[in-house]
Amino acid sequence: MTTETTAALRARVAELFPALQADLEALVRIPSVSAAAFDQAHVAASAAATEQLLRDAGLPDVQILSAPRPDGTPGAPAVVARRPAPEGAPTVLLYAHHDVQPPGDPATWDTTDPFEPTQVGERLFGRGAADDKAGIVAHLGALRTLGLPDGADLPVGVTVFLEGEEESGSPSFRAFLDAHRDLLAADVIVVADSTNWKVGVPALTTSLRGLVDGEVELRVLEHAVHSGMFGGAVLDAVTLMSRLVATFHDEAGDVAIEGLVTAPEPEVDYDEAALRADSSLLDGVALAGTGTVSGRLWTKPALSVIGMDVTSVAEASNTIAPSCTAKISLRLAPGQDPAAADAALAAHVAKHAPFGAQVTWRSGEAGKPFLAPGDTAAMRAARAAFTEAWGTAPVDVGVGGSIPFIADLLEVFPEAAILVTGVEDPDSRAHGANESVHLGELQKVVLAEALLLTKIAEGL
Ligand SMILES: [Zn+2]
Repeated sequence: MTTETTAALRARVAELFPALQADLEALVRIPSVSAAAFDQAHVAASAAATEQLLRDAGLPDVQILSAPRPDGTPGAPAVVARRPAPEGAPTVLLYAHHDVQPPGDPATWDTTDPFEPTQVGERLFGRGAADDKAGIVAHLGALRTLGLPDGADLPVGVTVFLEGEEESGSPSFRAFLDAHRDLLAADVIVVADSTNWKVGVPALTTSLRGLVDGEVELRVLEHAVHSGMFGGAVLDAVTLMSRLVATFHDEAGDVAIEGLVTAPEPEVDYDEAALRADSSLLDGVALAGTGTVSGRLWTKPALSVIGMDVTSVAEASNTIAPSCTAKISLRLAPGQDPAAADAALAAHVAKHAPFGAQVTWRSGEAGKPFLAPGDTAAMRAARAAFTEAWGTAPVDVGVGGSIPFIADLLEVFPEAAILVTGVEDPDSRAHGANESVHLGELQKVVLAEALLLTKIAEGL
């Protein structure tokens, strides 16, 4: 790739960007929340709108498809658009999702309506403006910039795959891959659903944490009893649960469950002051854990108690609670087998049952972590494309959250190189109030993806 071509592509992206921004704004106006409590007609509408955008881009084969979820109900509509690869040329699968998180309380947004896109300075605010309708626009923008499907003689096949239920845990994803394996098969998979390091510095996401969750039930009495008659000789289930919960972390706040994997420290660190601000940590509250902040967030396990069934304060009476149930969420370090983590959690709970209380562990969801395999040709091509687009080399970042479907992609397409790229930056507030995308960065994301497709077409 000569600098001249890069400059020409950059100019082309700039020229196309106002129309791309308008397309992004139109998508943000569709409240495509995939959570079950919301009207799924909007998810169908966003599938239809993205299908139309891909048709208008000239892709010859565009379909709306779905697959059944494990419970037998139909999955949300996904859009698949293809430009078949010329003979012997590689195919790239471009993934994003067209569903969004619920908006939350509109009063917590600074804009008038989470689904009315609002530009303030260089940022466009709105639910889905970043996560992940910006991903859709990144793919669309790269195709338009290169004049695909016909304008350019680029020997690369392209399949755009826009999922409709990522924010609901991708329940039909595996069935979808199995049902449409031939349609989706690719040499390189670009998942444009992550974050860049900061405004001005791109990133390749090379690790994601996995997740297991489950419930621990603790029982101490057959039934509730009077706290005056038996208190002093019998501890209540909430007190005993508190003692059990307290064993999950050591004094420093690191997870204290034996046998869990910790991955090596990341190459970049997360500024403590930024973490305090981003997380809204209150003054005087100490950070938990040891080692780098980024390591605590990306490469070590993390455990949270995310729910507990106890008597509410309003309904409290002077009785000793016979039982208590807590829901535990354990984020897994890259390299951790979820089944082994679940077994470690079950063993920990059994071993640390306080005062001989009866404890039962009920396993819940499990999602595998992701660790990019070293340094592949596709990763080198992506890094070179990012460097040209930003004028700055990208950093490798981890993400503390999980994208469980990546493990499905790796299982179904073990030969494919997976690149997890960013459309967000640390101010994007995906899932929260005041979600936004930085428009200058989005232009660079589009350019980088166009450059990446060019490099893949030229041969990895
Ligand atoms: Zn997303």
